[in-house]
Amino acid sequence: MSIPDNHPRAESLRVREKIIEGMHEKIVAEAGLIAHGRGEAYDYLLGEKTPSYAQKQQEVAVAMLLDAKKPVISVNGNIAALCPEEIVQLAETTGAALEINLFYRSEERVEAITKVLEEAGAKTILGDDPEHYETIEEISHLRRIVDVRGIYSADVVLVPLEDGDRTMALRRAGKKVITIDLNPLSRTSLWSNISIVNNVIRAVPEMIEVASKLKSKNSNELKELINDFDNYISLQKTLSFMSSRLRELAEGKLEDPTNNL
Ligand code: ATP
Repeated sequence: MSIPDNHPRAESLRVREKIIEGMHEKIVAEAGLIAHGRGEAYDYLLGEKTPSYAQKQQEVAVAMLLDAKKPVISVNGNIAALCPEEIVQLAETTGAALEINLFYRSEERVEAITKVLEEAGAKTILGDDPEHYETIEEISHLRRIVDVRGIYSADVVLVPLEDGDRTMALRRAGKKVITIDLNPLSRTSLWSNISIVNNVIRAVPEMIEVASKLKSKNSNELKELINDFDNYISLQKTLSFMSSRLRELAEGKLEDPTNNL
């Protein structure tokens, strides 16, 4: 479907199209569409822009990836459909491995996502070779299957658009977890070490830029950034941003588009 540039919600519609196409190409699971809709609703609350609190979350997340011994970025269908080039570039800039890990796992989807990532420039992709599969016992569904060279032995895992069960299981398995999730109240956000409450469409490219800047910092400087961060306080700041934005709108800032009729 071609979306006219002058449509007031052109950008959001284009992103939605990517998810729908991804579903037809068997990259995105049906439930991925519902998750996307949930994300869109929260993005309205942010005004569809990166707030300053999210810049901080992104900075500390990149510091944690750069300072990790074995960082891994977990890729699911929505990420592969929305920002394949950017996620490959983020992995390259931070030295993280890329691993396909799916809630609705099928070999067909693993293959489709592998192809997308390869086309986006990924040289090594984990999670697509049964010879290296291991299971994380704490997880009850198919996501328990991980790559022994990747998530299984990682110290830091970035899990954008994650479900709560797996985040909790990864924490229990001793991993540091970073997430990108527009819902600050999801179990994923609450259970992660660093929750970036922003749209992946904006967060991932911004994190690539941050990574190029932070790369020159030494481990002590990176650790200082990480140690100064508290996820609980950061989520409180996020909620306070959302609620004050709503309050301002409620108390007069909401424009009435019908005034010009
Ligand atoms: P939980 O199990 O963590 O309590 P959940 O059941 O909503 O939450 P999922 O179904 O995996 O977990 O949902 C994925 C999350 O991703 C949702 O919270 C949704 O708001 C978020 N999300 C969807 N699209 C985007 C996006 N483009 N950028 C950032 N977050 C997104």
